[in-house]
Amino acid sequence: MNEIRTMMQGQPHKPKILIVDDDAAMLASLRMLLKANGHDVEPAQGGSKALELLRDQSYDLMLLDLQMPGVNGHEVLRHLKQNGIDTKVIVVSGETSFSSVKDALVDGAYDFVRKPYDAGELLTTINNALQSRNLEQQHKSLGLALEESEKLHRYIVNNSPDIVYVLDNKGCFTFVNDRIENLLGYSREDLLGQHFSTLVHEEDLVEANYVFNERRTGARASKDVELRLKINSESKSIRYFDTHVLPISLHSVGMYNPNGLDEKGEFIGTYGCARDITDRKRNEELINYQAYHDLLTSLPNRALFEDRLQLATAHARRYKEMLAVMYLDVDRFKLVNDSLGHAVGDKLLQVVAERIMGCLRAEDTLARFGGDEFTLLLPQIHKKEDAAAVVKKILESIRAPIQIEEHELFTSASIGVAMFPQSGETMETLVKSADIAMYHVKSNGKDGYQFFSEEMNDTYTCHLAVERDLHRALEDNQFEVFFQPKVNPNNCQIVGMEALIRWRHPEKGLVMPNDFIPMAEQTKLIVPIGDWVLRATCEEICRWREQGLPKIKVSINISAVQIEQEDFVKKIVETLDEYDLAGDNIEVEITEYGLMKNRENAIQKLRKLSARGITIAIDDFGTGYSSLSYLQKFPVNTLKIDRSFVKDIEPDTRDTCIVDAIASMAKGLRLHMVAEGVETVSQLNYLKGLGCVEVQGFLFGRPASAQATLELMTDRPDGRLESCLLC
Ligand code: C2E
Ligand code: MG
Ligand code: MG
Repeated sequence: MNEIRTMMQGQPHKPKILIVDDDAAMLASLRMLLKANGHDVEPAQGGSKALELLRDQSYDLMLLDLQMPGVNGHEVLRHLKQNGIDTKVIVVSGETSFSSVKDALVDGAYDFVRKPYDAGELLTTINNALQSRNLEQQHKSLGLALEESEKLHRYIVNNSPDIVYVLDNKGCFTFVNDRIENLLGYSREDLLGQHFSTLVHEEDLVEANYVFNERRTGARASKDVELRLKINSESKSIRYFDTHVLPISLHSVGMYNPNGLDEKGEFIGTYGCARDITDRKRNEELINYQAYHDLLTSLPNRALFEDRLQLATAHARRYKEMLAVMYLDVDRFKLVNDSLGHAVGDKLLQVVAERIMGCLRAEDTLARFGGDEFTLLLPQIHKKEDAAAVVKKILESIRAPIQIEEHELFTSASIGVAMFPQSGETMETLVKSADIAMYHVKSNGKDGYQFFSEEMNDTYTCHLAVERDLHRALEDNQFEVFFQPKVNPNNCQIVGMEALIRWRHPEKGLVMPNDFIPMAEQTKLIVPIGDWVLRATCEEICRWREQGLPKIKVSINISAVQIEQEDFVKKIVETLDEYDLAGDNIEVEITEYGLMKNRENAIQKLRKLSARGITIAIDDFGTGYSSLSYLQKFPVNTLKIDRSFVKDIEPDTRDTCIVDAIASMAKGLRLHMVAEGVETVSQLNYLKGLGCVEVQGFLFGRPASAQATLELMTDRPDGRLESCLLC
């Protein structure tokens, strides 16, 4: 813009005047006169001299004599004309004939001054001529500047990424730029004279009428109005559009003729530009999709599910209908994911999603809540059995083998069902109820379904409370270790102790392990709790040592979850070292289940413990499914017969047979046999007869606090209990 302004203003310069006359005296007088008046003058004696000078230079003004020998004044004028030289010419001549003067003026002379000239008149004429020339020059540069500016704007308009248009006051196109062709597939010619509505999508016509008829100007004019324009479907060049409409953002401004009737002028139309916003719209759609969908399965996500459920419950409430909400968890999914990798895990989820979808009606919603958890919404259910039928179908479809790459996978699902309004009236309670019911299926062996019931709610809430309290118990040191003596059945001598945890609950009093250990295992809190038991036991052993009591082995119960931990062995070894205790001070009791769950991993770990002198006992033996071949692989020292078999020892009963079998097995594998839960003398005697090396039970003493145990042992330096009378 600045360049244009400079061009229009031009550079100020001193005008140059050429005086052409054959008469040297005349030349000299004119030269003197003009110089005296501050002009820049050049004399040319005769026409040919003038032409010669004009070849190399340009002049603003020429004072020209007409009658000259050789090239005369008329010829000079014609030369100027023919060569497009724009020097202003004032004829200064003695020639006064009308035709000669007329010819000179026709040939482009600006004015005529008769010789002998009047100096004043000549100078005035010169000034006028120069002024006139100045004006012309200014016009010329202004015109040039405008031409440039128009070129620039035309370039900008035609190369604009936007559609630029002008409409007349009836809404018909009077101008469109080139862009319209490749955006919409219409040629300019097609559109000029057409009404804008031919381009606008039918649903956007009301809005379009408003913006395309924009009468406002300036800041109040329409901005960023979004519309859809129709694409010329016949245009073959527009192959790459996958849609028939083009979303645009429109700006438009009213146009007025300033000479119009009212103060603002006459409304002559609208101009504006329209930007293609396809990419933005697509991105918006994608973001919107991502916000409400799970990208792995393309299913609705939690947010969309909750939204639909909200609507469905409102609808069901109004029309007094039932609906079912289901919570589905893929069984053992973690195992697939961990052992075969995430890619196979992802594929499995996709297949499961597809299979569930295959069991649903169009109006049902299946959503992925995250991980291997899905939720389903079945609106307009007439009775509970209808929901049950769908669940059974889903379970069956998931059970069929799934082939992923070279793996043939067998999976199943646990499904909890909550019915509206029976199992909950709000979205939150329905989802929670279905979730609780699903957990019940999980804890009852998976692969199945259950409808939610109020009793489930109680156990669930209770579980949650236990978990919270367990955390607090660890923090507030509410646990305690009790000890129960292990006795040699032949002389009633205390040969060992079993450390058994107790929870001194601030409100509930002393809580027994069976009431909280399963929850601690489920939440993995058993790991820090187990660490605490080990330390507390070591502290007691040290105390006994300090008191000079005879060394006895203490059994510590270890859960399967603890064995799974990578640092399981390291922790035990380090803790013993910390208390300066040799490995043979403790025995670890592991249930058959704990052993079998880890197998290979457990073998390695237990071997390491064994190498440190720590003995290993299998607790509750007989309740699991240990195979003999496996037992031989473990560095096991002791089999501890489960109390349930000891309880009913009566000669010739089935349980007695099991005890007999375990005893012979222990003998065959060269393992110690220990019996727990010995309550009666006949049980004791029977076990003694079987070669039991250690017995444990209420007959010899109940588990007692550390203090009571210390007192028990200090009171009996020989370690023999009163019950030795029985032995
Ligand atoms: P367990 O290891 O089989 O422990 C023996 C259980 O039998 C103890 O129950 C003990 O009090 C009980 N008992 C002993 N003699 C008799 C008897 O003559 N008659 C009857 N009816 N019961 C007897 P407690 O202390 O309630 O422990 C239950 C279970 O909790 C334990 O069974 C053990 O599996 C687990 N547990 C206890 N403490 C811990 C611990 O520190 N860590 C882990 N992981 N588990 C523990
Ligand atoms: Mg035990
Ligand atoms: Mg036991």
